[in-house]
Amino acid sequence: MRIIVFLGAPGAGKGTAAAAVAKKTGARHVSTGAMLRDALARETPAGLEAKSYMESGGLVPDEVLCKMIAELLAETPKDATLFFDGFPRNEAQAAALDKLAAEAGATVDLALCIDVAKDALLARLGGRRVCPKCGAGYHVVSLPPKKEGVCDACGAELITRLDDQPATIAHRLEVYEQVTAPVVGWYERAGKLRRVDGSGSADEVAALVEAAVR
Ligand code: AMP
Repeated sequence: MRIIVFLGAPGAGKGTAAAAVAKKTGARHVSTGAMLRDALARETPAGLEAKSYMESGGLVPDEVLCKMIAELLAETPKDATLFFDGFPRNEAQAAALDKLAAEAGATVDLALCIDVAKDALLARLGGRRVCPKCGAGYHVVSLPPKKEGVCDACGAELITRLDDQPATIAHRLEVYEQVTAPVVGWYERAGKLRRVDGSGSADEVAALVEAAVR
């Protein structure tokens, strides 16, 4: 099993690039944010525990994430490639991932950091829309749906995530700087880091990511 970790600030385009490249290469896109939103919608114990942290833009406790990831690795076929988007989000999670991966006979092969300047991150996050039904992501400027406010894939009405409201965005960026950015150094020290310029269009970033993961 190959694991490739996608790093970068909220709004850097990790999810968009991971989804596009996973579709092309047959890898599996694992978004812990999407898994938690799904758990919350289904009102599972993990979802309910995560609720208040997610709504404020803070991090959900490591135990909840590590349990989710351990279960996922246990059910993943040995020949799969996983793109992790949103995990690990702090150094403790990075250490836990190394351990869980080793137990599952997998390795973290590569950490891709998608770099985007802060003013561009703010513009992207403010315009982000998601489909509450199928999870597809859009942006009012850079990736609009064919019909305004409606999901191309399933026809559901698009929403702005609670954690994409302005005050929460500011908090998420602070959490990223303080807690998640050190994970980049963790993988750099392990000799596994590659940086990708995330300032271009979704297609341009996906092409750079695809070249890096091949
Ligand atoms: P995302 O969709 O990756 O932006 O994640 C949305 C929210 O889910 C985050 O703001 C956190 O509250 C929570 N979350 C997702 N992944 C993690 C993680 N690895 N550790 C802790 N919280 C997470």
